[in-house]
Amino acid sequence: MALIVQKYGGSSVADADRIKAVRDRIKRTVDAGNQVVVVVSAMGKTTDGLVALANAVSNSHLSLSTMAAQEREMDLLLATGEQVTIALLSMALQAVGQPAIAMNGSQVRVVTEANHTRARILYVEPEAIQAALNLGKVVIVAGFQGVAVDPQTGKPSTEITTLGRGGSDTSAVAIAAAIKADICEIYTDVPGILTTDPRIVPKAQLLTEITCDEMLELASLGAKVLHPRSVEIARNFGVKMCVRSSWLEDAGTVITAPRLSTGNLEALEVNRFVEGISIDYDQVKIALLQVPDRPGIASQLFQSLASQGVNVDLIIQAVQETEGVNDIAFTIPQSHLQMAEVVSRSLEIGARSVTVDSNVAKISIVGVGMIGRPGVAAQMFSALADAGINIQMISTSEIKISCVIAANDGEAAIAAMQTAFNVPVQSSHRACEFSQSTDDHHAPVCGVALDRHRARIAVEQVPDRPGMAAEIFEQLVAQNISIDTIVQSQSDRDVNEIAFTVAIADVDKAETALKNYAPILGYGAVTSDRHICKVSIVGANMVHQSGIAARMFSALAEADINIEMIATSEIKVSCVVREHQAESALKLIHQEFGLSGDRAIEVPSATKP
Ligand code: ADP
Ligand code: ASP
Ligand code: MG
Repeated sequence: MALIVQKYGGSSVADADRIKAVRDRIKRTVDAGNQVVVVVSAMGKTTDGLVALANAVSNSHLSLSTMAAQEREMDLLLATGEQVTIALLSMALQAVGQPAIAMNGSQVRVVTEANHTRARILYVEPEAIQAALNLGKVVIVAGFQGVAVDPQTGKPSTEITTLGRGGSDTSAVAIAAAIKADICEIYTDVPGILTTDPRIVPKAQLLTEITCDEMLELASLGAKVLHPRSVEIARNFGVKMCVRSSWLEDAGTVITAPRLSTGNLEALEVNRFVEGISIDYDQVKIALLQVPDRPGIASQLFQSLASQGVNVDLIIQAVQETEGVNDIAFTIPQSHLQMAEVVSRSLEIGARSVTVDSNVAKISIVGVGMIGRPGVAAQMFSALADAGINIQMISTSEIKISCVIAANDGEAAIAAMQTAFNVPVQSSHRACEFSQSTDDHHAPVCGVALDRHRARIAVEQVPDRPGMAAEIFEQLVAQNISIDTIVQSQSDRDVNEIAFTVAIADVDKAETALKNYAPILGYGAVTSDRHICKVSIVGANMVHQSGIAARMFSALAEADINIEMIATSEIKVSCVVREHQAESALKLIHQEFGLSGDRAIEVPSATKP
């Protein structure tokens, strides 16, 4: 007998027939001798409908304080969606003789932070669920919702919270961790995790297995099939997880976790944010300044480097305040310096100057807990600033933040990070902390993701001195804004540009906050651009093969698609492109890496009106 958590998403419970189909699957699982806890989403597009209603009675020019007050009511509203589904599914099971009980987030006590519309789960009380299971019932829990802790007493209050859109995956995995379930099965409208979204590339292929790291990146970079925080919990608590279709019997995709649980069940989503610090002194920074901003430049540069066997580590490309030019900076291991310098200087791509600096080091902090926590990056930048260390380049992935600094500052930087985050130093070389077994024969890219919900903000003419990045990001943290890709350009003048992407929903808040602060910090204009998308490739094996980023850039260049920002980490490369070219970009990249299969994937909910 196994203890199984099954989560059914909105399309899987969209109408009475679908609810009956789900009921049958649950009944079969129980009849096979298992105990079952079910977590459900709101039916179909119910949550979208509720959001639209809220927008219809509100207006978009609210003060920051009214916005905060409305978030509380928003949670009350949105939490109703899931309650409809739990009640109906429980009735459906009872009607066929299967004892069942429906519970909302406060009845179970899924206790969260007191932070409306994006609450993190602190803990889940297992007792009520276990008591019902012991009575032979199927327990049906409303996903996406919880009850806030009372900040004064530290006890659960009666305030309803929600976890953020797509959050019922996170509810399911948190419950699975709390009740120590044998497996958490996520049922949805696709056969599992695919190489990309089948709504854009119908011949996307099913992955039978994917590592937690890869899944985390894919999910955070826009593959909405899983809420990234669910993968974070699975990883921290060693929850076995799979993704399957609720329409088919196929096995789906298993998500493999690298190690067993180390987490603290009393602080499910608020464990240690940073798990490791690493420093890499084997780095040289090459910067090409004021390169023309047109398709094909990055491709030409990185193809040439790849063809000479140069292993490029970090790449960043940022827009420049001067129209029509970009800065491209990258780091490579010391041993590749000569070749890389020759290639960079000999290429005729119109760079105004090429600078080489071999006295640099890359300091990185790593941890799945930093996803969606804007304060972590700001804390890193301030700790470096307090130690008087200037940051030359910044590059972030969902689970890692790296800063290129002067090599002489290395020791001081490590000490600053250890004090700030209280964690041990890991490796002294290229960090592969998050990759598991990797070998050269594996495909370098496992998936391609598209994130349409981002906007870019650029802060121009940022004085190049310690503390600037910290001050800028602290303004955003104060507004609870999460930043994704951050790139800080490298410049030969005494100013830098810092560009980053944020959720479209946060762009107004971010822009206003930064504009207000410009006179105090002395940076230049703050601009935003909503018509961008981020296309990314992910794969734990790309670190072992050179030229992967170059292939991605070339695929885009051949189609005349301009790359506006680039940010890389060991297991991903992200490019910001114009919105209207984003789908073609994704298709071209998917094709470049030979990821298509020979049959189209059906998405049942996409074919229905
Ligand atoms: P649910 O309602 O079950 O939670 P979602 O709509 O949140 O389902 O997520 C499933 C959708 O995720 C699919 O219909 C598909 O369009 C999309 N998707 C995006 N990227 C991927 C991917 N790499 N693999 C599978 N599905 C993906
Ligand atoms: N119903 C919520 C949403 O649409 C939560 C979820 O489906 O995961 O975002
Ligand atoms: Mg979902």
